[in-house]
Amino acid sequence: MLRITFLTAVLLAASLAVAESPVAIAIHGGAGTILPEKMTAEREQAIRAALEESAHAGHEVLESGGPALDAVVAAIRILEDSPEFNAGRGAVLTNTGTVEMDASIMNGADLEAGAVASVKRIRHPIDAARLVMHDSPHVMLMGEGAMSFAEDHGLEFMDEDWFITDFRRRQLETIQADEQAGMQLSESWHSTVGAVALDAHGNLAAATSTGGMANKRWGRVGDSPIIGAGTYADNRACAISATGHGEFFIRHVAAHSICSLVRMAGMTLDEAANQVINETLKEAGADGGVIAVDPQGNVSMPFNTPGMYRASVDGDGKLQVLIYREDSEG
Ligand code: ASP
Repeated sequence: MLRITFLTAVLLAASLAVAESPVAIAIHGGAGTILPEKMTAEREQAIRAALEESAHAGHEVLESGGPALDAVVAAIRILEDSPEFNAGRGAVLTNTGTVEMDASIMNGADLEAGAVASVKRIRHPIDAARLVMHDSPHVMLMGEGAMSFAEDHGLEFMDEDWFITDFRRRQLETIQADEQAGMQLSESWHSTVGAVALDAHGNLAAATSTGGMANKRWGRVGDSPIIGAGTYADNRACAISATGHGEFFIRHVAAHSICSLVRMAGMTLDEAANQVINETLKEAGADGGVIAVDPQGNVSMPFNTPGMYRASVDGDGKLQVLIYREDSEG
């Protein structure tokens, strides 16, 4: 009798603890020259719907007491399947018209991390990154080796054509025509996807998935699969996923820098994220933004471009789906 009472009390305490901890999720679908006049109504609607579906999928995991890692993967898988974003299906094309993808994931509870770089035909590169974290002694695998690791672990592969959209074909043609004419790119488009989450147990996780930069060559790899640059999570500070001009995010170790400012300089999440995006990176001439969440469930989503595809459900359960700068100022 005593045992049952004790067990009941433990379970009750555990369920109360779950119910009382805030959960929060933020996602992004990239930052860039995103302006209302450059957007069709249909595209905007498709993007908003995908962002909402992704945020909901992640939030549902958190609401049912699931781990932050599961939530960020659930959110990213939806964006990888959506042709609107530069990840999975709809990823940008390389200089030779192929698709090479990068992804990474990090667990804030133990600083475990996994990443893949320059992989082809894997439907969900984020699943491959998670497998590297859990089922290998390594943090990052690349190219053919990463693909055979994914195959050995039963991940789904698709034909390369499945990933390639007409939009990306036209984008590559335009960039290459401009390049031949010696013109500078006047616009920046970074539509990498990412997710950060805080679960009911107080654990943080971050994940990022991308096709990298359009027209890339020579096996170029950006910040997205690099732990500390495009992705970082530490329960003592925050979880970050970045989008933008990857070379700068690598040089400034952007995601880790934000967490360090929170943990060691005592800044709020918003102050730290803004310092890196709107001061350090802006002064360096780098376009981009981040999504960030801290152990209290605060969400910050700064960017230094005209827009960033983003959505969040904060500690109070409030859903926001935002695209343009004005969306958050209204
Ligand atoms: N950060 C990515 C890269 O440099 C690009 C993006 O955000 O879309 O590969």
